[in-house]
Amino acid sequence: MPSCIPSPPFPHFQRKELAEYSTFGIGGPARFFACAQNVQAMREMLLYAKAYQLPYFILGKGSNTLFDDRGFDGLVILNGIEGCEHHEGVFKVGSGYSFPRLGQISAKLGYHGLEFAAGIPATVGGAIFMNAGAGPQQTFDALHTVDYLTEEGALITFKKDQLQWGYRSTSFQHQKGAIVGACFVLSKQEEAQAHQRKLLSYRLETQPYKMKSLGCVFRNPQGGIAGKWIEELGLKGLRVGGVSVSTKHANFIVNDQEGSAQDVSELIQKIQERIYKEKGVFLEEEIRRIPYTGPEDVSS
Ligand SMILES: Cc1cc2nc3c(=O)[nH]c(=O)nc-3n(C[C@H](O)[C@H](O)[C@H](O)COP(=O)(O)OP(=O)(O)OC[C@H]3O[C@@H](n4cnc5c(N)ncnc54)[C@H](O)[C@@H]3O)c2cc1C
Repeated sequence: MPSCIPSPPFPHFQRKELAEYSTFGIGGPARFFACAQNVQAMREMLLYAKAYQLPYFILGKGSNTLFDDRGFDGLVILNGIEGCEHHEGVFKVGSGYSFPRLGQISAKLGYHGLEFAAGIPATVGGAIFMNAGAGPQQTFDALHTVDYLTEEGALITFKKDQLQWGYRSTSFQHQKGAIVGACFVLSKQEEAQAHQRKLLSYRLETQPYKMKSLGCVFRNPQGGIAGKWIEELGLKGLRVGGVSVSTKHANFIVNDQEGSAQDVSELIQKIQERIYKEKGVFLEEEIRRIPYTGPEDVSS
C-alpha cells in the first residue's frame, strides 16, 4: 500500500472507532470511514480505494463482523443505500435497507419467504453476502436478482442462477465489490405473520438477544449442531477476559465485560481444541474476522 494517500475526496471521518459499528462492540479505529448513501457514492469510494490500493471493507450492521483491536488500516464503507418498493410480492430494496424490517413488512403483507429475517440484525446486503438463514429458510430461497458494483465501477445485475450459494456461503464471499440492491419475489401465505411471531418468540427464548454478540460463531459441522456439541462438553459460561460462551445459547460468544478481539480469538481457539479432542472435528467459524492490514500487521 502506498504510504502517502491523499485524504478521500468525499465526506469521511478519520480514525472512527469501529466498536460502535459492530454488534459485538469490539474494534479499534478505521483509518478512513465513510457512508455511501447511494450507488454513485459507493462507486466513488470503491474507485478511490482501488486507485490508491487502499484496503476497503463494506460494512452493513456489523452483526457478523469481528474487527481487530488495532482497527482497520484502510477505508470502511458503511452501506447507507436505503429504499424499499414493493408490488404484488416483488420487493426491490437497497442493500443498506434493514433486513429485519424487510422481513416484518413482507410478512405483515401476507408474503412468505423472509419470515426468519425479523430477528436478524442485518442489512439486506449483509444477509445476501452471508446467505443468512434460520431453520429451513435462507436468504437465497427468496432472492431473484442482485445488483452488484464491481471495483472498476461497473453495475451488473446477476440473476440468482448466475450465482453460487450454500449453507451460509455465497460466491460474493470470493469477489471484490459491493452488493448495492436486490429484488426478492415472495409468494402469498396467510399464516406468514403468525409464523414470524413464533420464530421471533423462539429466538428471544433461546438466544442472548439483548447482549453484545455476533450470533452463532461456528458453522454447524456435517451431521452435527455446533451449539449442542459445545453445550455437551460443558463449555457454557467458559470465559477469556471480557468475553464468554453464552449460558443461554452455546454457539454464541457474548461480550459482557468489555472484551477484546484477542479475548474472542483465544476463546474460539479453546472451544475448537476441546471439540477437536472429543469429536475429531474442526469447527469452522461463521463470523467474519477483519484483519488490521496495517504496516506492523505480521499476520497477513
Ligand atoms: C443477535 C444475532 C442473531 C443472529 N441471528 C442470525 C441468524 O439467525 N441467521 C444468520 O444467518 N445469521 C445470524 N446472525 C449473524 C448476522 O446477523 C448475519 O450474518 C448477517 O447476514 C450479517 O449482516 P450485516 O449487514 O450485519 O453484515 P456485516 O456484519 O456488516 O458484514 C458481514 C460480511 O458481509 C459483507 N457485506 C456486508 N454488506 C455488503 C455489501 N453490501 N456488499 C458486499 N459485501 C457486504 C461484509 O464485508 C462482511 O464480510 C445473527 C447475529 C446476531 C448479532
